[in-house]
Amino acid sequence: MARRLNAPYFGKRYIGDSETKILHDVDKETPSCRIDTIPRARIQMFEWLSIPSEMNYSGCQFCMPGFKAGGKS
Ligand SMILES: [Zn+2]
Repeated sequence: MARRLNAPYFGKRYIGDSETKILHDVDKETPSCRIDTIPRARIQMFEWLSIPSEMNYSGCQFCMPGFKAGGKS
């Protein structure tokens, strides 16, 4: 899948769901990620991993299985 350039994505690499605290890597997105089903009000976009890590996001099991909050990806 490709990055989404339109709002609310704006071409950034990482998409987070602020309620589930699951982070997706758009460059490795799989159909199982179902990013398009995340309610827009819960979408948080990140270009770097340091911020979502501090916000206790964890990686999606499909596209970011190695990423854990507070750790290194
Ligand atoms: Zn994912």
